[in-house]
Amino acid sequence: MIVLKKLIGEIMNYEAVVGLEIHAQMLTDTKIFCGCSTVFGSPPNTQTCPICIGMPGVLPVLNKKAVEFIIKTGLALNCHISDYSRFARKNYFYPDLPKNYQISQYELPICQKGYIDIYIEGSMKRIGITRIHLEEDAGKNIHATGNYSAVDLNRAGVPLMEIVTEPDIRSPKEASEFMRKLRTILRYLDVCDGNMEQGSLRCDANVSVRPKGESFLGTKTEIKNINSFKFVEKAIEYEIKRQISIIQDGGKVIQETRLWDPNSSITVSMRSKEEAHDYRYFPEPDLPPLVNLSIIAEEIKKDLPELPDQKRQRFIEQYKIPDYDVDNLVSDKSLAKWFEEAVDVGGHPKAVANWILSELLKLLNSENKSINDSLIKPKQLVSLLKLIENETISGKIAKVVFEEMYKTGKDPEKLIEEKGLFQIKDEDSLIRVIDEVIFKNPKELERFKAGEEKLFGYFVGQIMKETKGKANPKLANELLRVRLKYHSQNES
Ligand code: ADP
Ligand code: ZN
Ligand code: MG
Repeated sequence: MIVLKKLIGEIMNYEAVVGLEIHAQMLTDTKIFCGCSTVFGSPPNTQTCPICIGMPGVLPVLNKKAVEFIIKTGLALNCHISDYSRFARKNYFYPDLPKNYQISQYELPICQKGYIDIYIEGSMKRIGITRIHLEEDAGKNIHATGNYSAVDLNRAGVPLMEIVTEPDIRSPKEASEFMRKLRTILRYLDVCDGNMEQGSLRCDANVSVRPKGESFLGTKTEIKNINSFKFVEKAIEYEIKRQISIIQDGGKVIQETRLWDPNSSITVSMRSKEEAHDYRYFPEPDLPPLVNLSIIAEEIKKDLPELPDQKRQRFIEQYKIPDYDVDNLVSDKSLAKWFEEAVDVGGHPKAVANWILSELLKLLNSENKSINDSLIKPKQLVSLLKLIENETISGKIAKVVFEEMYKTGKDPEKLIEEKGLFQIKDEDSLIRVIDEVIFKNPKELERFKAGEEKLFGYFVGQIMKETKGKANPKLANELLRVRLKYHSQNES
């Protein structure tokens, strides 16, 4: 116990420093330097041509869309857009790289010096973006069970953005929040589908630790190719602890590249600094420099969509719903749109938000579906809300109706009709049910008479059970009060 306390105390004396390098595949129809399709999941090597398989003598032709997408992203991430930029060759040998060099950017990236604001427990934190550059993706090595490997070059030449952050991140949570926010923005912009499982958004985490209060940077390790939000957090958390314990044992962290092993939840060494590549970068001779990018940027700026932070601000002011609800709604562009459509046709903002965030998302998440898959349309939710408001059904029954709507996409009115779920508001019928319940529970009636107020709730429960939840709750309460009094007096 004492040892543990000491250890925790010492961990508290360190702070983590994290910078991320993110690769985002762009949603262009074709590759960056040729006309091959970028569609995911086709049979191996069916989306290739002499250019993207690196035949001698072929020349790259730059995809204009890729340049527009990266500028769009740079603007959304508050970057300075360079007027002049160029490509560089990054030389290395690997079977998934048929040219033996990757066309990338080096000293003149298209976007620099931006930032993203993240919110952790309500407080805002700004994370700097060092640069965003354009490059081509490599192919994919497939290590088969026999003693051979295969290469699929469908991915070779798919346009990538590499987004590099400043070492501003201080915790695993901040890192995963950053990734979430970045993904939300990329999806708002329609420049990347953000699918981490399929690898269209992947991240390398650079991690170091230092005593709290110091400003120097400790020796970092780089964890490669992390492919989920959960792993971003876990890998960084593991790495921080590993580094602190090395330092506490009097050792030194060595600069190296590590891999996250999700099966055993640890990071393992991949290669040390000594084995690091010398990429021998030099300007790409086959592509002209990019000029007048600021003119293109001005045009693109005019068409930028409303971004998450702007939408967040507007939602807070316009709909007067809690920040927490707003954050959840704007985290997904389609969800925010669904919400606004419902409010536009007369839904009360808070009620709509509640139903989306608790009921609808619960059902969708349980099937791993997104709001775009929802059979319930915004207008139908608003109809349901009206039916609760005018007491056609109770809130409880509404949930039953909602689940049916979710399964079938039918209108609530139709379902209520079909299943006879109308609320019982007729006094005579209700009194009949209430009297029956009281009659069936003589012991409870005695106890109630003796002053056990809480049995009132028991009777309400029985009435709801008897009517399958269809009794109007307010009326049932009123009438129960009257009938209990009546029976108490008459039978004592
Ligand atoms: P390298 O030359 O090794 O690629 P860079 O200076 O280009 O390193 O930085 C790569 C990434 O690592 C950036 O995201 C940066 O913020 C981050 N980084 C740099 N130094 C550190 C450090 N000491 N600790 C944590 N992250 C760091
Ligand atoms: Zn091609
Ligand atoms: Mg670097």
